[in-house]
Amino acid sequence: MSPQKPDTTTIREQASAFASELAEYREEDLTPLWESLRASHVPFIPILFRDELDTAHALCNNVLRAIGKANVGAAYALENHLYVLGGIETYLSIHPNERVRARLDDILARRQYVANTHGYLHTDSAFTEGISAKPTGRGMEVNGIGHFVSFTKTAELLFLTLVDCPDPVALLFPLKGDQRITFGDDYYFPEVLRASDTRSMSCDGVVVSPEHIFDVARDHLLPGGAMSVVLLGWHLTLSSSAFLGGASYVIDQTLKFAKGFKTFDGRLLSRLDDIVAELGKIGIRYGAADALINDYTRSLVALSDARDRAEALRDGLLSAQIANCHATELTEEISRRCRRLLGTRIFGPRYATLGRVTTELLMGPLAPRNNGILEKDVGHGMLAKRSFDGIRWARSRTPGAGRAPEAGKT
Ligand SMILES: Cc1cc2nc3c(=O)[nH]c(=O)nc-3n(C[C@H](O)[C@H](O)[C@H](O)COP(=O)(O)OP(=O)(O)OC[C@H]3O[C@@H](n4cnc5c(N)ncnc54)[C@H](O)[C@@H]3O)c2cc1C
Repeated sequence: MSPQKPDTTTIREQASAFASELAEYREEDLTPLWESLRASHVPFIPILFRDELDTAHALCNNVLRAIGKANVGAAYALENHLYVLGGIETYLSIHPNERVRARLDDILARRQYVANTHGYLHTDSAFTEGISAKPTGRGMEVNGIGHFVSFTKTAELLFLTLVDCPDPVALLFPLKGDQRITFGDDYYFPEVLRASDTRSMSCDGVVVSPEHIFDVARDHLLPGGAMSVVLLGWHLTLSSSAFLGGASYVIDQTLKFAKGFKTFDGRLLSRLDDIVAELGKIGIRYGAADALINDYTRSLVALSDARDRAEALRDGLLSAQIANCHATELTEEISRRCRRLLGTRIFGPRYATLGRVTTELLMGPLAPRNNGILEKDVGHGMLAKRSFDGIRWARSRTPGAGRAPEAGKT
């Protein structure tokens, strides 16, 4: 049974109240703010809207943009929680599993936050397995190191996916109160996105009991099947939302500057034609990034109706890859263009936050997947076709199908 859905306006208001508090907050430790957000609907959108996944995704996009405008790192932490819930709910819409659904209901009832890792180690070789899980008589034993785990201080649960292996599995288990789970003392990225609270994590003989384990169907496409595809789709699009939120802060500050700064001849910067066009160019590309995220939102409707689910999954993932590459290239570009407009003051103390955010935006094209890797995937797809007739692999989506996305309402 689906939980009772709250009004979407209330959720947007809750996110905007949280973002306002966050923007004013001067302490390093965000615990009090995360505690107040826990009482709201915001962290549980994908569970609350499980029977309307497009609305869930559009709402997440909306709230992460608002929160990212206040603090990109905090938005990235919450994004890591939301994409996991969204990905699991989408997976359950394809492979229903009452036991897993009950676990999500429990997360909602207890108002818990979820951190995640895929268990790769950061070494001189990409995708080296850092965490492994092997069956024991009492469930599974987890050992190893996960280099990147965000939201470490706040989350109560860890979602660990081990999907690129012969027996893919996902574990959702308590993160707190087990001496065998330890975190690095220092932030993994001390200079940027500190509010994401990203640290290394070590598991030394952690025993995960059967109720916290669920099998992952080995079905379509990527080695981890639909589970990998939908998790990656949510993650690519919603991490873009967090960075686009940061970019909107930078644009906002740049507009204020342009409206107040006078050039040598006494004219306001905002009156110069080339500056007006430069700002317009940023706005047009921002609008396109928005539209591409909405395209992934719509793909979630197509997924539930699809006759050929593998094709619909592949098409949805392509939308997410396009949206992420476009949005994060753009946020990097906004950082560069706005720095040029603002001049050297961007590195002065008065603009310290703005200077930091423009640096944080450089992370967009690097995570969660380097844009080069996404481009390589798309390039392989193009080469596999006999002729180029546009970028869509499939034509499974009827134009205009699905509800109008929430994100379009802003
Ligand atoms: C702020 C932040 C928070 C994060 N939080 C989490 C978290 O909570 N949980 C989690 O699991 N992860 C988290 N991550 C990690 C993230 O999901 C990625 O795993 C990580 O960013 C991988 O990037 P990398 O550059 O370290 O990749 P590496 O795997 O070290 O690769 C290095 C570089 O090699 C190249 N490369 C690698 N593979 C290929 C390939 N197949 N083809 C072509 N080129 C390739 C790319 O240029 C890549 O950037 C976080 C990352 C950031 C930045």
